[in-house]
Amino acid sequence: MFLFNGGRMLVRCRAHHPPEIPTHNDLNRIAPIDTVIRIGTLEATACFAAELSELTAPSGWSWHSLRQLFDELPHAELEAAGRAAQLLHWHNTHRYCGRCGRPTEDSFVVRSRVCPECSHQSFPRISPAIIVAVIRENRILLARGPHFRPGVFSVLAGFVDPGESLETAVHREVREEVGIEIERVRYFGSQSWPFPDSLMTAFFADHAGGDLSIDGTEIIEANWFTVGQLPSLPSRASISRALIDRFVEQHPDEC
Ligand SMILES: [Zn+2]
Repeated sequence: MFLFNGGRMLVRCRAHHPPEIPTHNDLNRIAPIDTVIRIGTLEATACFAAELSELTAPSGWSWHSLRQLFDELPHAELEAAGRAAQLLHWHNTHRYCGRCGRPTEDSFVVRSRVCPECSHQSFPRISPAIIVAVIRENRILLARGPHFRPGVFSVLAGFVDPGESLETAVHREVREEVGIEIERVRYFGSQSWPFPDSLMTAFFADHAGGDLSIDGTEIIEANWFTVGQLPSLPSRASISRALIDRFVEQHPDEC
């Protein structure tokens, strides 16, 4: 059972163990529970997400943000926790019909909220975003946003606009944020990013022309780095780090 309160998740932390998710047996000590949503199975066990109205964590348990748990939870638990967080967020923000304002109800056919008055139907929302590592010969473009931890640089990222393809969004974001043109955009992989409902799609691209000119708003510092000069990097659990690690693997002589 994935229990949340105000975006934070309940886990038990013990030395030398990954954080533990509460099981049904733990639940008689944890109450009361508001919204409960079935989210699927984890290792053949049915899993649920719920919002807990009581903020005081039971003895031995504590509240942690998903970001805090990102490097600590095993992959399967992290994926299920992200799904739980996204579905709860969607449920909590679609209690009323966006067209006529009446309270919505769960559909029994597909996962959606349906308005009993006007039949308007809302599906779980996923917001696609792109993330791109631009390469110039043996260097990678890394940048800092205004909310990054001090000293940390990462690859460029941004949301896909309505009407855009992923590739169009990659070209536009790079042009807007650092003022350069790119070519040979190639798909790398994707990652669900439940803050609150993004799907990160990651690409490599090559520098095609222009010098760095940062926008000063979304990007406050940007530079080209060789493998030997890399600054502090994002969490190992993020796909942005996977892009940078792949770049490092491709330049073994410069470590
Ligand atoms: Zn309605």
